[in-house]
Amino acid sequence: MLCDAEKCTACASCIDACPKGCVQFTYDASGHTVPVADAQRCVQCGLCEKACPVLHPPRKQSILFPQVYCACSTDDDLVHRAASGGIATEITRYFIREKRGYACGVRNDGDFIPAFVLLDAESDYTAISGSRYVHSRADGIYAKVRDCLQKGSEVFFCGLPCQVAALYAFLGTEYDTLYTADIVCHGCTEERVYKSYVDFLRRSRGQADPIVGIDYACKDRGWSVLIQKLMRISYASGEQQYRWSQQDPYLSLFMDCAIYKPACYTCGFSRLPRQGDLTLGDFFGIGTMRKIKNLHADGVSMVMVNTVKGQELLRQISPRLRMEKRDVREAVYFNLNLWRPSRKGALHDALAREMGDPDWAKISEKYFNNPSEKRKRSVRKAVKTVAGDRNTARLMLLTYKLNGTAAKADEALNKLRNELENSAENI
Ligand SMILES: Cc1cc2nc3c(=O)[nH]c(=O)nc-3n(C[C@H](O)[C@H](O)[C@H](O)COP(=O)(O)OP(=O)(O)OC[C@H]3O[C@@H](n4cnc5c(N)ncnc54)[C@H](O)[C@@H]3O)c2cc1C
Ligand code: SF4
Ligand code: SF4
Ligand code: SF4
Repeated sequence: MLCDAEKCTACASCIDACPKGCVQFTYDASGHTVPVADAQRCVQCGLCEKACPVLHPPRKQSILFPQVYCACSTDDDLVHRAASGGIATEITRYFIREKRGYACGVRNDGDFIPAFVLLDAESDYTAISGSRYVHSRADGIYAKVRDCLQKGSEVFFCGLPCQVAALYAFLGTEYDTLYTADIVCHGCTEERVYKSYVDFLRRSRGQADPIVGIDYACKDRGWSVLIQKLMRISYASGEQQYRWSQQDPYLSLFMDCAIYKPACYTCGFSRLPRQGDLTLGDFFGIGTMRKIKNLHADGVSMVMVNTVKGQELLRQISPRLRMEKRDVREAVYFNLNLWRPSRKGALHDALAREMGDPDWAKISEKYFNNPSEKRKRSVRKAVKTVAGDRNTARLMLLTYKLNGTAAKADEALNKLRNELENSAENI
């Protein structure tokens, strides 16, 4: 009835779809989050299955061949606290403050686990800014969005590609007043894995000085055209600790694609055409194919326009943005998750055995602080230090051209172009 555990994205659409409220998440034998239906209360109506985007991938309308922009908000403070250029927060603000509609974004709970909230004109929308590198809880949000749409309200939904697909599958019909953005996603860890890591951080510090904030895309030391992140851990005492992705076991293994949920490695939503009217990501590699003027030091978003609605939405918020049209190839050559899911990192199989009950002290020693991993990180660091971020990005582009990755990205674009040409209903 529900999709295979290995393919389940934990989007929670089946939970919202069940009229008896009898689907809930549990952990399977390997420790993965999976939904189960209470057989006693199930009336075999099949609505959960119908709402599953893995079993019934939704089909969007008015798809365009992607146009790509680099963009950031004109509000410098927002760009600083945002994940990249602050576009998701700008659109959210526009929907709730100017259109008096609704917007969906994630906020952290006390354990730093992000969960979706529905925001309206009175809500504080600033807490949604920034990226959380863990799967977010979405149960409940799809039904709330449907209620708003049925009353004729305008709604903006921004989420991971699997969550945007889940919303469309749940709704089962297109609404003129719904606008969506999917965020480029290389994968997510399970909530349980992340919680154990936060506990590890807490234990390492001791109870006297609790953690009050964790930011994975901190800009206090600027933003890089390379896929590298600065993490900031804030403590109640006011102290702040900074770690580059290669200095923190969780962030490093996350960036190395070693600890994602199984479904992420075969994700059917990290592809072209994209799931949302817009796609938002970091514009890694910006300027490597063509020069760019006035790059914001605190972050630049990649905005991909996928539908006629997306085009209209970008036009509406453009007065709040600085933006420039770019070659679509500049985006897809660097951001591989625009057209394919991540591949399992070298440490994935070994770590999979640890993920049932992760012991981060042990994981740190065994997979992060061992001599061979340290050596690899030193080599990467040396290349970056000698070449600089921009030249390293140019080197990466050259590698992608030589190893056929760029050709595969071109292939994905050509495939989409052919599909659109052969489809009468799309433009
Ligand atoms: C798990 C994850 C993986 C990512 N991988 C890539 C990548 O490989 N390449 C790339 O270019 N970009 C990636 N991003 C996207 C990037 O980090 C930014 O989120 C995106 O560029 C939007 O930036 P912004 O400045 O417009 O967002 P902001 O204005 O800062 O707003 C952030 C938006 O992201 C949403 N959000 C944050 N965390 C989550 C979450 N866990 N689940 C659902 N929604 C969330 C918020 O609700 C909000 O709408 C990833 C983001 C996440 C959360
Ligand atoms: S078949 Fe119907 S009642 Fe049973 S779990 Fe699915 S949605 Fe709920
Ligand atoms: S709807 Fe989502 S959570 Fe439910 S089975 Fe399908 S993928 Fe898994
Ligand atoms: S990779 Fe796919 S399945 Fe995994 S979190 Fe991202 S969108 Fe969802």
